[in-house]
Amino acid sequence: MISQNPVFIPGPTNMPEAMRRAVDIPTIDHRSPEFGRVLHPALEGVKKVLKTTQAQVFVFPSTGTGGWETAITNTLSPGDKVLAARNGMFSHRWIDMCQRHGLDVTVVQTPWGEGIPADRFEEILTADKGHEIRVVLATHNETATGVRSDIAAVRRALDNAGHPALLLVDGVSSIGSMDFRMDEWGVDVAVTGSQKGFMLPPGLAITAFSPKAMEAVESARLPRTFFDIRDMATGYAKNGYPYTPPVGLINGLNESCKLLLAEGLDNVFARHHRIASGVRAAVDAWGMQLCAQRPELYSETVSAILVPEGFDANLVVSHAMDKYQVAFGTGLGDVAGKVWRIGHLGSLTDAMALLALSVAEMVMVDLGLPVKLGQGVAAAQESYRLSAAPVQKAA
Ligand SMILES: *Cc1c(COP(=O)(O)O)cnc(C)c1O
Repeated sequence: MISQNPVFIPGPTNMPEAMRRAVDIPTIDHRSPEFGRVLHPALEGVKKVLKTTQAQVFVFPSTGTGGWETAITNTLSPGDKVLAARNGMFSHRWIDMCQRHGLDVTVVQTPWGEGIPADRFEEILTADKGHEIRVVLATHNETATGVRSDIAAVRRALDNAGHPALLLVDGVSSIGSMDFRMDEWGVDVAVTGSQKGFMLPPGLAITAFSPKAMEAVESARLPRTFFDIRDMATGYAKNGYPYTPPVGLINGLNESCKLLLAEGLDNVFARHHRIASGVRAAVDAWGMQLCAQRPELYSETVSAILVPEGFDANLVVSHAMDKYQVAFGTGLGDVAGKVWRIGHLGSLTDAMALLALSVAEMVMVDLGLPVKLGQGVAAAQESYRLSAAPVQKAA
């Protein structure tokens, strides 16, 4: 039997029934006006989720990683200077991709568990009098460490330095779950995927380019073909793609935006905050620590939980799967074996989070960690009981 348990990995996330139905549609002619009636509302929906009126949205058959490649190859030329902080596996991988593309990356080494050091960025940008740095990369939510960075602060660093570099933001594990303000924060390229906040299967790279980023596209010389947004723009103008689009996923994206906007973005963010707060109450009751160093860094979508020194955190994840068929996230990169992760984003309720926490307790007791059954669950129950939204009556 396939387990009916929800997953608690930080993506792919659980798919609501409506999303599963939305991606399952008959073949339609992807060059017909009918496809345009799916595509254009999906692009408009993404703009609303990103809180942008100015940006142009481009959706590729790919994943978040393809979204990074779209962002850099459309805005940069070989040898261009890039500024980035390395504070987790995802920022690390984006830096690695830039280096493999022949870009010159100034890497600000940052402890894993910390956010982007905006003040250090400001110093570096201020010192760059010739404005050689073309792009600043920022990972909004470091999925490996459960750390949220302050993108508005990174924007202020650029502005205080009077620096014209573009701001490219990875919002793969935040967009659609945590507040993201593309226009207000002056984000030039936003990147996400279909399988996290949008609650869809993997398969789409979702990107948005500000007017300033659109200008950079004309002079950017990094090789690109599949990910050239100019070809994509030409396709969109004719209701099509430069190649065959994943029609079902794009229909799903349209439905996902409708679902998020019907719940109300503020309500979606508040729900994630509430659920995350309950998870954190449980971690605290277990006497354990998060990898994220301070409350203002706490991610609302994923918690990375430190295990006692000498204990292999991967055991929590493998035992949870082997014995209880419940999926948690392993530690990645520098924190592999030191943390395990609870993904709490996308289609999730208090009740589902309690399931995760109660299974986690059984796992930890099985493995001899100093935790008692019910300890964290009770703390989360109290948190949810006190913060639960009033019951919504059907309209
Ligand atoms: C999941 C994730 C990615 C990678 O996305 P893929 O869809 O697996 O390519 C990139 N950045 C962050 C922050 C992520 O959480």
